[in-house]
Amino acid sequence: MNCTVAIVGGGLFGSGLALELVRKGIAVTLIDRDVVPVNRAARRNEGKVHLGFVYAQEDDARTAAVMLEGALAFRRIVASWIGNEAWRSIPSSTPYHYLIHRDSILDAARLAVHYAAVQRLYEETAASDPQGLDYLGDRPPRLWRPLDPAEVSAYRRASVQSGFATVERALDTDSLCDQLAAVVSATPAIRWVGGTHVEGVTNTGKGFEVYGGRMGERWAERFDFVVNAAWTSRVAIDRSVGIVPPKGHLLRLKYRVIVSLPNHLRGLSSATIVLGRFGDVVIRGDGTGCLSWYPACLRGWSDAAEPPAEWEDPCRGEPATVDAEAVVHATLAAFEPYYPGLSRAAVLAVDAGGIVARGASDIDDPGSRLHSRHAIGILHTVEKGYLSVDQGKWTTAPLFAVRVGEMVAQMAGVGND
Ligand SMILES: Cc1cc2nc3c(=O)[nH]c(=O)nc-3n(C[C@H](O)[C@H](O)[C@H](O)COP(=O)(O)OP(=O)(O)OC[C@H]3O[C@@H](n4cnc5c(N)ncnc54)[C@H](O)[C@@H]3O)c2cc1C
Repeated sequence: MNCTVAIVGGGLFGSGLALELVRKGIAVTLIDRDVVPVNRAARRNEGKVHLGFVYAQEDDARTAAVMLEGALAFRRIVASWIGNEAWRSIPSSTPYHYLIHRDSILDAARLAVHYAAVQRLYEETAASDPQGLDYLGDRPPRLWRPLDPAEVSAYRRASVQSGFATVERALDTDSLCDQLAAVVSATPAIRWVGGTHVEGVTNTGKGFEVYGGRMGERWAERFDFVVNAAWTSRVAIDRSVGIVPPKGHLLRLKYRVIVSLPNHLRGLSSATIVLGRFGDVVIRGDGTGCLSWYPACLRGWSDAAEPPAEWEDPCRGEPATVDAEAVVHATLAAFEPYYPGLSRAAVLAVDAGGIVARGASDIDDPGSRLHSRHAIGILHTVEKGYLSVDQGKWTTAPLFAVRVGEMVAQMAGVGND
């Protein structure tokens, strides 16, 4: 294939897209500000493969439908990139309990209505595409049930009166990203251009010039097709080709704490505390955990087109010691009533990622637009040569990589394999 294709951003979406295009016979240049692939939000998140439960504030379950679609495609697509054996080696979490905090913006009855809608969407998939039922390799008949009183009493020291058991799980993001980075690096048809900060793209009329800085020097290169997969900088790059930033564009900096769990907590259910500014405890099969208490872990909020410069260090895994200590202290203290003894966990790592969404108020506001995430995927095209993609969530990134791969192949005049 003679056309030249650039993908700006080698996260879960961009790296997966590169592999999809190579599979179709299209060589790709993968450009990233980081020196190695999949080293940003793709690696530094909680790894929950969302079934859509958390978007309960939305009346029509549109976001849940998108999440469910992404979740049921996730294993098949990622395993096709890294191989089945590598997939099986990724540590997974125990299923999540959804615990209803006494200050939840929705009560148990209202949450149950939403969860029933998620179950209906799942059953519709089962009826229309039985082969499509694949949630991380399982085909559970039911996705949730109310917790029984004995299960609720395990959380009696916390502000929880009731909750739900779900089949939702998280994966170890570091493990998945290590495997994906190795495949990207070993694929000759992917040209990796790391350490390159893309500032913008110019439509030359005969293709698109991608420009920016590389190791202190100016850098530019022309391509026939460009996919903007830069996640936190997508809007800034879009602006350079004349796409007006969306109203309510919001960047948040969110930390996570990776721990080695005390023995007595290993194997317990993971938990997410709903619905509002609470958090999650992910308990993985390998004895590690991923913790994120929203009030302590949310440490940046910006409506700028690009993340503030001071977000850079935590987003590549090197937070300031004082910030890391503050996050750890507050997070362990907040979860202690839910998992007594958790504060004795050994901290293995503290890092952060940028989250892109739309909204002006936080998630404890029932009217916040953050409760809706269905307007994702291919958001803009410029003269059939430039695509801007919001990958939405970790959950949906593989699905969109496949879809965008098909679109780029079509634009490039290459048939599907
Ligand atoms: C703490 C936290 C918890 C989360 N939990 C979950 C969860 O449990 N489930 C879920 O589904 N989602 C979750 N998310 C969201 C999820 O991480 C993101 O939606 C997803 O990873 C974004 O897609 P990506 O992997 O392609 O992004 P990234 O990995 O960020 O990829 C974008 C790439 O673009 C590069 N880049 C950016 N700007 C430029 C530029 N100007 N020039 C060159 N390169 C550039 C970056 O270096 C990066 O490699 C969470 C996010 C955070 C931060």
